[in-house]
Amino acid sequence: EKLLEIKDLHAGVEDKEILKGLNLSVNKGEVHVILGPNGSGKSTLMNIIMGHPKYQVTSGTMEFEGEDMSGLKTFERARKGLFLSFQTPEEIPGITVENMIRTAKQTITGDKVKLVPFRKELKAQMQELKMKPEYAQRYMNVGFSGGEKKRNEILQLLMLQPKLALLDETDSGLDVDAVQIVSEGVAKFHNENNSCLIITHNTRILEKLKVDKVHVLMNGQIVEEGGAELIEDINSRGFTHILDAQNEAK
Ligand code: ADP
Ligand code: MG
Ligand code: MG
Repeated sequence: EKLLEIKDLHAGVEDKEILKGLNLSVNKGEVHVILGPNGSGKSTLMNIIMGHPKYQVTSGTMEFEGEDMSGLKTFERARKGLFLSFQTPEEIPGITVENMIRTAKQTITGDKVKLVPFRKELKAQMQELKMKPEYAQRYMNVGFSGGEKKRNEILQLLMLQPKLALLDETDSGLDVDAVQIVSEGVAKFHNENNSCLIITHNTRILEKLKVDKVHVLMNGQIVEEGGAELIEDINSRGFTHILDAQNEAK
């Protein structure tokens, strides 16, 4: 069952083309990984899937559950079940963690989320993530350490239960223990009814997950696809040999 389908996508920012004919398809229940060198367009792709207003799609199609997503605003995409965890989570002074997640949940479900049961669930999830309960009343990410910010991202994932979780280097800059928590958190989130699209340079985050497909993004295109074995291949041989192999084939 197709969840996300991107065909021949051309897109960019400020008149600069970054994605140059990208194809990508994710089925329900699958875990996909995108690997690629710095500057290849990975974060741009994630932002474009979420409908970030700074980026422009110039051609190609993007469907979610068989529905064209063009023209949908970010909150409308969130309502459809998309969630993006950022490389650098934002600090939001004045809005507590609890308020932020509750408001997001209300926006997504279109329903009022009752405080008492919500608090109970939040507390339980925070406990699992080894977050101190008082963090619920702290301002979003303000004064949080790198690891605490990432735990907070996973907390949102578990509370909001999106159909497709887009994780953009959620594990970057984390110590070993924090990577473990992120890894367990993602594994806890994932089941046969949702999907994950993960950008990472650190394959330790994948240890607790069964990876269905790996895509290599270079120069704005998916240049290679394969199973989990592609991760090892790239870890040992790097990215350039893929382009070398393709140039030789031409
Ligand atoms: P990755 O996440 O793979 O490291 P990005 O998607 O962040 O790559 O960036 C891809 C390319 O687009 C880079 O060359 C980057 O400099 C450029 N780029 C990204 N965002 C902007 C922006 N807001 N303005 C101009 N160029 C940008
Ligand atoms: Mg980068
Ligand atoms: Mg990036």
